[in-house]
Amino acid sequence: MVLQKGITYMHEHTTIDLSRLKNIDDTNLNCFDETVAEYKKLYSKGVRNIVDVTNMDMRRNPMYVKRVSDETNMNIIQATGFYQDKFLPEFVTNHTVKQLTDFMIKEINEGIANTDIKAQIIGEIGTSKDMMTPREKKVFEASVIAQKETGIPITTHTTLGTYGHEQIDFFKEHGANLCKIVIGHVDLTGDIDYILHMLDQGVYVEFDTVGKENYQPDLLRVNMLKEIEKRGYTDRVFLSMDITRKSNLEYMGGIGYSYLLDKFVPLALENGVSSKFITKMLEENPAEFMNRGLKK
Ligand SMILES: [Zn+2]
Repeated sequence: MVLQKGITYMHEHTTIDLSRLKNIDDTNLNCFDETVAEYKKLYSKGVRNIVDVTNMDMRRNPMYVKRVSDETNMNIIQATGFYQDKFLPEFVTNHTVKQLTDFMIKEINEGIANTDIKAQIIGEIGTSKDMMTPREKKVFEASVIAQKETGIPITTHTTLGTYGHEQIDFFKEHGANLCKIVIGHVDLTGDIDYILHMLDQGVYVEFDTVGKENYQPDLLRVNMLKEIEKRGYTDRVFLSMDITRKSNLEYMGGIGYSYLLDKFVPLALENGVSSKFITKMLEENPAEFMNRGLKK
């Protein structure tokens, strides 16, 4: 089994450094002790798995993540793949689709970046705002082939929720297994019809920016979840927070990882989302998604 029984945050970054483009130290999430403290707190609340979608070139650090896992007992799933265009390494420009595929398959079968830590998810592979650049297309093509060969799931990044429908069209055209794909950041669309159309196609979706109220109020997230529940799509939604900044953590006065369980879940329950649906999003759906089709 990939996941342990318990709650799973499906889209996080234990350590990530986007500071070279964003030009602020805050976007270098490298506060080891504070992350350990928060993961321990999550563990005490029943969280057992974190799916860490950090990849090249978000300055991933698989050994750092492993040390956090060792210190907290948290099962942290690590990823292979490449992000959206402006963060892509030259590596992607210079390599063919076949070379990118081989790179990912090696990280899945042997280990990430010369460690023996095997990638268990491909992602977060991204598209830019309202478009897929030629380099992103290469990454998507390689990811579909790597998925077909290894059977592991794909998780995507949409920029502010845009281009999600086109990502799905791409996966369909390339014969990818839609029930092994989750489209990320869909809550940022704020558009329930847009999300329902995705669910109609057979993919999973993530409300993975919970607590980022500067983008979207949580009450809107809750209202969209209510509608999804009404339409009967409760089996294919995950929740997460996508914490990427030091200032998101409690020691800096941020909301911290526990916000999802301590604040968002009560808000959802108060406003009519069922506790059954909450349990599905936090526990059952991630397990179904990550463990599906694996040899026991
Ligand atoms: Zn993302």
